[in-house]
Amino acid sequence: MKIGILAVQGAFAEHETALQALGAETVLLRNKNDLTRIDGLVLPGGESTAQSKLLKDLEMFEPLKGMIEDGLPTLATCAGLILLARRLADDDVVHFGTLPVTARRNAYGRQLGSFQRAGNVGRIGNFVMTFIRAPYVESADSDDVEILATVDDRIVGVQYRNQLALAFHPEMGGDLRVHEYFLKGIKG
Ligand code: GLN
Repeated sequence: MKIGILAVQGAFAEHETALQALGAETVLLRNKNDLTRIDGLVLPGGESTAQSKLLKDLEMFEPLKGMIEDGLPTLATCAGLILLARRLADDDVVHFGTLPVTARRNAYGRQLGSFQRAGNVGRIGNFVMTFIRAPYVESADSDDVEILATVDDRIVGVQYRNQLALAFHPEMGGDLRVHEYFLKGIKG
């Protein structure tokens, strides 16, 4: 089983460390030739506008979109969630648009640029969530979107079919249970 980690920009190295610690084979996706034969995909945090532009420049955007639509198990964090969202509040831009939610970027304002909160994350249970200029999910726009985590009544984690999307950074802090959960889902 090989997990592709998008590595054009952002916090990809931490995901690589987490997945390798769990014994998974990983490949950093830097250009379109890296997109062959992967069993799972990680879209890391970073800057969604920059990531989307680089994906297009590198001709990775359309192939990746197709692979996600075809059911490739995908773990998206922070900027990755923004890339997946079908709609962005206060923004006409849509990137992959494969996840039927409305996401709000930089949703906590300057005062709360970065913070941590413990809370329940789906079947994983209590987890310390690290937020960095994070988005949140303003609305789940399909009955098939399962809400996994909320902070102050705001949705910060969802699962929709093959897409697991989190506003926070599970790769930070050394707790590998989110990655473990993702890998278990791929094995079926
Ligand atoms: N604010 C970033 C964006 O809009 C996301 C931040 C992050 O990934 N840590 O893309």
